[in-house]
Amino acid sequence: VDAIVIGAGLGGLLSAAHLLQRGKRVVVLERLPHSGGRFTAKNFHGVQVSTGAVHMVPFGSSGVLSHMLQRLHVPHRLFDADVFGSFHAHGKTYRARGLLGVLKFFSPRQSWWFLRLGWLMFFQPLPEEERRLPFDLWLERHIPVEQCPQLVAFFASIARFALSLELHQVSTAEVVNTTKNMLRYGAPAIVKGGCGEITRQLEQIVHSYNGEIRLSCEVLQILQEDGVVNAVRVKQKDTGEEELIQAPLIVSDIGPRATDGLLHNCRVKQADVLKPKDTASSSDEAASAHVQEAVGLKVHILSDVSLIPHKGIMYCLDTQRIAGMVQPTNSDPTLAPAGKHLLISHQVIQSNNVEEERALALSDLRYLFGETFDKHCQILTMGTYRGEWPVNRISQGEDVDPQLDVRGLYMVGDAVKPSGYLMVEGVAQSVNNFLDLLEN
Ligand code: FAD
Repeated sequence: VDAIVIGAGLGGLLSAAHLLQRGKRVVVLERLPHSGGRFTAKNFHGVQVSTGAVHMVPFGSSGVLSHMLQRLHVPHRLFDADVFGSFHAHGKTYRARGLLGVLKFFSPRQSWWFLRLGWLMFFQPLPEEERRLPFDLWLERHIPVEQCPQLVAFFASIARFALSLELHQVSTAEVVNTTKNMLRYGAPAIVKGGCGEITRQLEQIVHSYNGEIRLSCEVLQILQEDGVVNAVRVKQKDTGEEELIQAPLIVSDIGPRATDGLLHNCRVKQADVLKPKDTASSSDEAASAHVQEAVGLKVHILSDVSLIPHKGIMYCLDTQRIAGMVQPTNSDPTLAPAGKHLLISHQVIQSNNVEEERALALSDLRYLFGETFDKHCQILTMGTYRGEWPVNRISQGEDVDPQLDVRGLYMVGDAVKPSGYLMVEGVAQSVNNFLDLLEN
């Protein structure tokens, strides 16, 4: 073959489709028995329960992913949000059609500071020394934060929902670039059929070009000679057979830590990634150097009654943990059985105490929806996303270089997202970058 893609996540499948379109012979190797990684879903009693993404594409039908799918002739439909968002604050929900709609729930004083921040973020060049400043410190520098609790909560809930980060974990440059892109491209969208539908269509495109996707096939090692990649050693899980597959080009969709592990013939395990930093040995530290993932907890809820009346995100400013929720069945009712509503909440995990994080999620849900929650809602799943299966393999803004020291080896996916491109938009843009590197 001409190219090997390690991992059939969204980044791997998009890369494979592009390479095949350019006439290359490609094999995609996936260790799980299904494709899609964190961007697919399983049918659970008629509900599309996702392996990661909340069925949402951040920049909607005008975004990078949508354009890429169009170029690849991948059939898909996206339902753009009909609002900028709604905001649960002071125990009430405020609906904002556009960005300025948020002024409804700010006091006049906080509205003034909000407009001033907008002017600084969008109309003024960001001074060099402020670029790396954590966003919470930047806010402190420009507004009287103690007098603006709603304003700070507004930024915090968006950062937690969209980036899975606290404000002290994200740089000002990243917030500015991401916000500019959110406004430039437009509202997020829900995928018709859910994220699994995009994965299925991509699989079909790969097959239609005679590309091969080998499932349950784990890459154990990346081989190189004189600094140039030439093969991978794989194990077919069902038969236990090992074999070498040779190619001059290897695209890795599994992030820098696991890729580095494979170059050193070792598998990075979930326990290694979750090990507290102070107990990690020096070799663990080498493997995890510069890698900080974004972690979260997501709840799938099935409700008899509709709880969110729009297609966008409901950001939660007055909860203990939950940062935001969506009701994807408002866009595509087939994501749940007829007459039922699927809701998904997302929060950042703030401690290692998972039980406590789950309890806080539950208490937030009861706070948000009152008695209706216990009467009409059923929790389908409540899962944490961290270690080898995080929300973002590398936190927004800390992403690594897609080109490695070894010639012929490139990385795509959510560890190499360019600045300003979040989640699957970042994955798609990482594939654009990889294709540019290949041509130059
Ligand atoms: P992955 O999907 O992780 O793909 C990597 C693949 O490589 C996996 O299938 C893995 O099994 C395979 N693999 C690993 N090691 C090997 C090996 N040695 N050999 C063979 N195969 C291997 N994004 C959005 O845009 N919108 C959202 O609403 C959204 N919500 C999210 C909510 C949660 C809770 C989570 C977890 C993520 C969310 N994301 C969202 C992020 C989005 O899911 C990811 O950015 C995206 O799916 C990452 O794709 P990827 O191809 O980079 O990696």
